[in-house]
Parts: sequence; structure tokens; C-alpha cells
Amino acid sequence: MRECMEQTINCKLHQCIYDKGVMVVDDSSLQRNILISILQSCGSIPTTQAMDGRNALTQLRKMQVLPAVVVIDLEMPVMDGIQLIQQLAEHEINTAIIVASSADIMLMETVQMMASMLDLPMLGIIEKPFTPAKIFAALSRFNQVMLPIAKRAHQPKHISSAMLQRAIEKNGIVPFYQPKIALQDGTVTGLEALARWPDSEFGMIMPAEFIPLAEQTGLVRALTLAMLDSVLVDLRNWQQRGLELTVAINISGVCLSDKQMADDIILRVKRAAISPHSLVLEITESALAADIPAALAALSRLRLKGFGLSLDDYGTGFSSMQQLARAPFTELKIDRTFVREASTKTQVRTILQSAIEMGTQLGLTTLAEGVEEHEELQLLKSLGCKLAQGYLLGRPIPGGEIVNWLEANKVIIETACNSKYP
Ligand code: C2E
Ligand code: CA
Ligand code: CA
Repeated sequence: MRECMEQTINCKLHQCIYDKGVMVVDDSSLQRNILISILQSCGSIPTTQAMDGRNALTQLRKMQVLPAVVVIDLEMPVMDGIQLIQQLAEHEINTAIIVASSADIMLMETVQMMASMLDLPMLGIIEKPFTPAKIFAALSRFNQVMLPIAKRAHQPKHISSAMLQRAIEKNGIVPFYQPKIALQDGTVTGLEALARWPDSEFGMIMPAEFIPLAEQTGLVRALTLAMLDSVLVDLRNWQQRGLELTVAINISGVCLSDKQMADDIILRVKRAAISPHSLVLEITESALAADIPAALAALSRLRLKGFGLSLDDYGTGFSSMQQLARAPFTELKIDRTFVREASTKTQVRTILQSAIEMGTQLGLTTLAEGVEEHEELQLLKSLGCKLAQGYLLGRPIPGGEIVNWLEANKVIIETACNSKYP
């Protein structure tokens, strides 16, 4: 903590604010200057500035050390404050936020609520004009808002099977969707459903933290069926809006050795009046190792009904070739380690190339996951890979945001796939 020497206010702010500073995002240079001079008058808080949301996002994504706080104006050209807040959540940029605007207070409160729902640390809202008192009142909430978040991040999450079971039963585990993109023209061909568990105590619980427990306790069966039910509702919704997308669901090996599971999946899809051709089941290589005859029977029956079958994380197990020869897969999903290293390591690039060639020759749709860079996208395209998935093209988002996302990102994605980079 450092003593604030500002004349009118005698306050103490968290040291982190003096160390990491404040970013001011406002399209008016006058407003930026007023705020910066207020911040500098108090123990010289370091400042950076951006004239709109996009400019702020570009800077933030490049920064090694994020500013402690970002003060965001709501009305700005190019990318406004509301869009910037959504982008911060999407890119998991967890810097503290102050919303500043001359818009009416009701609107600002709605924005504040939206930011809190996105799990972003909100220090408060400021009605313009800026005054030192308003700024310091918001900045002094830093400790109170950030401390529980810091604790939560370091706190081991003690998830019991009872908690997990309750979450499954109450539909507390929901699908987020990540787009699968055709490299040839940039169209979105489908989505992968990834399980997310939003929890009031722990924040967003990721699959790595509960799928192993679900597998050990046998709860993965109920979890998979709950995910399937949610996906079927979303698919129906999208189809009613004229969107023809396939959705992929992850299936654990444990489920494949369960003789009843294939029937349960088939029955639910039939009851929902959704064609099995709209669904792809993603199965990892290791999943097939457990009880091979049972897994092969389940996969063959599902394939007969028309479900797509994808071999996930291809290249990470031992017996990839054997698995491919055995099961009636329709898609080969190449693990992201190959994608990440192929641009820099010639040997990895050769392996990637041969995986794509082999998949193509076997009549499978080739998909590369974990695409984060333009170079990777172009390399995959030049190697003849059909589909790609990754943060560059789109992060997993809730089902309710898919329609807007598709509208807003259509041109961007198509341009990324069709352009040469740089
Ligand atoms: P996966 O099936 O290989 O899914 C891909 C994972 O990579 C997802 O992590 C996704 O968010 C992440 N990802 C996507 N693009 C990129 C990228 O460009 N870079 C990086 N670094 N990562 C990227 P997530 O959602 O945490 O899921 C992890 C794993 O948990 C999944 O790996 C899958 O095996 C499992 N899982 C997720 N949902 C379910 C489910 O409903 N059922 C089962 N059985 N397993 C699930
Ligand atoms: Ca998967
Ligand atoms: Ca994968």
C-alpha cells in the first residue's frame, strides 16, 4: 500500500495499481487526458491508453504484464465498451474493470451486471465527468474485489462425487460450443460441445477438473447423456432458424464399454426427432483400449444409425493405425501438439503431413485442433487438411451466443481462411 498524496482525498490504494498501472480506454482524447492527470496526481499511477475497444484488446493481448485496472468508456467507434468487456471474458483477460460513461445509469448498471455474470472483476461504474473522488472510490475497491478471486484461483477445488452428481442432476453442467471450420472456404461446418460447470463458489470449473472424477465414479454416463440432451435442444433451436450444423460430443472410453450406452444415445436422439447425421461422437484413441469388442460393437451400431465418428487426439496414443483399421471412423482429429510444433519442427511437419494424407486416403474428414496462429492455418491448408478448430478461429462459447457469433464472425473467418498470411 502507498499513501495517496492527492490534495482532496486521503486514500490508500493497493500496491498492484502502482506497479501495474491503469489502462484508459476512451475515444475522446480530452477525457483520456483528464483521467490520466487525475491518476498521475496520485503517486504517479502508470497509465496506458487506447482510443477504442479493438485497440485496447490488441494492446492487452500483447502485454506481458496486464494493467491492474482498465477504465472503459461505453460509447466508442469500432469496438464499443460492451463488446470490449465481452472480448475480455472470451480471451480470459482478468484485469479489474471500471465502466465510465455519460450514458444513463440504468444502462451502466446492466453492463455492470453483464460483466459480473461473465465472471469479470468489476470495481464499479463512474458517471462522467471524471472527478478524483469518483476515481479513487472505484480504485479503492480493488483489494475487496480481487482478493477473493486470487484466493479462488489458488484454492484447490475439492469436488466430491456428491457435488458432481448434484450438478449433473440439476443441469448445472452445460455445453459450450467451439466451431469447426472448413479450411477451403472458411465456412463453419459444425461445433464441438465441451462441458462447462459454472459454480458460484469456484467460478467456471473446466472438464480436466471433473471428467476424471466422473469417469472414476461412473457418473460420466449421466454426464454424457445430460450433455446430449442439452445439445439436442440447442440443435433443434438452430435447425428451426435454418442453421444446418453438426455437433460433436465427447464420449469417454468408460461409456463405450457400457453395453446399454449406444441404445440410450440412439433412443434420445430419436425422441428428439434429430437426425443422427447431425451428430458426431468424438472418441479418443485410449478410449478404445479398455474393452475392444464392446467398444467396436457400440461404435458399429452407432455408425449404422448414421452418427459420425471422430478419432480424437490422433497421434497421442500408441496404436493409432490399428484403431483406424478397426473402427468405422468418419473423421480423423489430429492432436494439437502436432499443429503447434509443425511450423517450427520439420519432423513434426512430416508426421502431420502423413497423418493428413493417410486420413484422406482412408476417406476420412481430416481435422486439425488447437489452431492458434495464422501460419498454422496456412500450413494446414497447404497440406490439404479439410477442417480446423482452435482459438484463432473461435473459442468455446455458450449455446445462446452461437447465432450472433456466426453472424458477427462469418466474414472474419472466411477472410482468415482465404487470405495468404502475412
Ligand atoms: P478435447 O476433446 O481434445 O477438446 C479440445 C480442448 O482443447 C478443449 O478443452 C478446448 O477448449 C481446447 N482448445 C480448443 N482450441 C484450442 C486452442 O487453440 N489452443 C488450446 N491450447 N486449447 C484449445 P476443454 O474444453 O478444457 O476440454 C478438455 C478435454 O475434456 C476435452 O479435450 C475432452 O477430452 C474432455 N471433455 C470436454 N467435454 C467433455 C464431455 O462432455 N465429455 C467427456 N467425456 N469429455 C469431455
Ligand atoms: Ca474432442
Ligand atoms: Ca482433442
